[in-house]
Amino acid sequence: MVVVRARIAPSPTGFPHVGTIYQAVFNYALVKKNGGSFIIRLEDTDQKRFVEGSEDVIYQSLDWAGIKINEGPREGGRFGPYRQSERLEIYKKYAEELIDRGHAYFCFCSPERLQALRQRQEDGHQPTLYDKQCRSLSPTEAKKRVEQGENHVIRMNVPENETIKVIDSIRGEISFESNLIDDQVILKSDGFPTYHLALVVDDHLMEISRPIRGEEWLSSYPKHKLLYDFFGWEMPVYTHLPLLKNPDGSKISKRHGHTSVNWYREQGILPEALVNFLTHLVWNHPEGKEVYSLDEFAGLFEFKDISVAGPRFDLKKLEWMNGEYLRKTQNSNLKDQIFKFLGGRYSEERIGKVVPIVKERIKKLSEFEPLAGFLFSDEIKYEEGLEFNKDHLRSAVDVLGNLAEWK
Ligand code: GLU
Repeated sequence: MVVVRARIAPSPTGFPHVGTIYQAVFNYALVKKNGGSFIIRLEDTDQKRFVEGSEDVIYQSLDWAGIKINEGPREGGRFGPYRQSERLEIYKKYAEELIDRGHAYFCFCSPERLQALRQRQEDGHQPTLYDKQCRSLSPTEAKKRVEQGENHVIRMNVPENETIKVIDSIRGEISFESNLIDDQVILKSDGFPTYHLALVVDDHLMEISRPIRGEEWLSSYPKHKLLYDFFGWEMPVYTHLPLLKNPDGSKISKRHGHTSVNWYREQGILPEALVNFLTHLVWNHPEGKEVYSLDEFAGLFEFKDISVAGPRFDLKKLEWMNGEYLRKTQNSNLKDQIFKFLGGRYSEERIGKVVPIVKERIKKLSEFEPLAGFLFSDEIKYEEGLEFNKDHLRSAVDVLGNLAEWK
């Protein structure tokens, strides 16, 4: 059995993204299937996007989803630190190693020059790539300018006229022409690495055996391949999960669709249902089952069976699935969940009595109140002036009140 080291590498940029759970589930399934470690690495090197408190919400949402973490910023482990902002010395050392070996170079171009260059390229309908001006500086001259304190970044030195081949575990081999790959900045002027350098260094040093990430990184994959080659490290096969889309095909984002895990939680979607739904978006059970446990999924799934066609996030389907989970839940357990969900507003005992009645229809916990709230109140609200008026209600009381047996 292969021992797997799988990781998620979320950026602490605010609310807990449903995409983090989506990626976490595949990583977690890999560990469940093969044994090994599930690692969380915090990619907090983008100071501009950093949001205080994000680490807490990432942890809370993984905990809610039932994902157990073996190594991470809070768990510790042999490969720490697990927050990238605490690893800056490591990235600097590796960036300098690339400079010494000629695989990277210092760049002193001003933002104004880069902006003008970009504009010219856009106007001429050319690819917007750095023109490698600083690559021709002699290493001694460049070092001197750095020592004099001149503002600089470090760029990777992408070879010209080469075909770079990478393997993705879902899509197979993909080729990229190096002439279309930018001399990516790997270390910024503030001394922070960019994603590209930090990712390769960390996935290597943390011995990640099967990195899984979002499809948005597929186009950067050849840069990462080059970095692995520059360092002389063996590259694991990466998996790029298809991006979640809205039913109309647009990408789910903060503005469009529900991206926060908390939203699903507040709706009364069960974590098991969300996890099932997320895997089912891109994978079909061999027996055509739609409702299956994470353990069952872990035992059966293979990367090659993941469909790359953009998975559509159909809320109706999720609600249906959630309803299936609610119906499978034991009454007493469902009572506890509803009691908790409603913040203890109603008597637990009474909820317990109502559960068998609503269980057949309820699709999410938030529907309990609209479906059965009237049973918890002596005051009934109804619209005045409707044909269905107080007299009718009174006759109903007479008729129903005389029933000998309720069925
Ligand atoms: N920080 C990256 C993200 O949030 C991680 C990508 C990866 O998993 O390598 O998308």
